[in-house]
Amino acid sequence: MTSDYDGRTKRRKICNHYGWSYSDYTHHITSWYEEGMSSHEIAEKIYIDSKIRINPRSIMRVVPCRSVKEAYQNAIERGRVVWGKGEKTEGQFRVSVARRMLVLQRDNFKCQACVDSPAINKDTVLEIDHKTSRANGGSNEIENLQTLCRRCNKGKGALNM
Ligand SMILES: [Zn+2]
Repeated sequence: MTSDYDGRTKRRKICNHYGWSYSDYTHHITSWYEEGMSSHEIAEKIYIDSKIRINPRSIMRVVPCRSVKEAYQNAIERGRVVWGKGEKTEGQFRVSVARRMLVLQRDNFKCQACVDSPAINKDTVLEIDHKTSRANGGSNEIENLQTLCRRCNKGKGALNM
């Protein structure tokens, strides 16, 4: 099969890049994985180091399977899980970088309270705010997120709006 052949060729090239023997590959990938890197991060690291693009799925084929619960917990710790089950505490749910970017773009990179922006005032820092706070049951859905400048966000927090 072509894909198997490609996979073997890439693996050999990656080993050559790092100076590993062909059989070292599984060992090194597994140890990165056990240190907490995701398959996507490992593929990205390999690409940055060697310019060889591999499918993250090919990494999952060489590492021992992690339980779903363990993988989910790991994702939460890294802020990957954007929303989760009700019993989790607020701090465990951060808004992903991609979602923050979507909110910033939607709000034209302007504070939705005072219309300040870094383009107008270079000291302005924009933050992503939950309209209804996580503590009050607000979700990380994009409709519940807005761009506020740090000053307005602090003011809002003080008033507990
Ligand atoms: Zn503001």
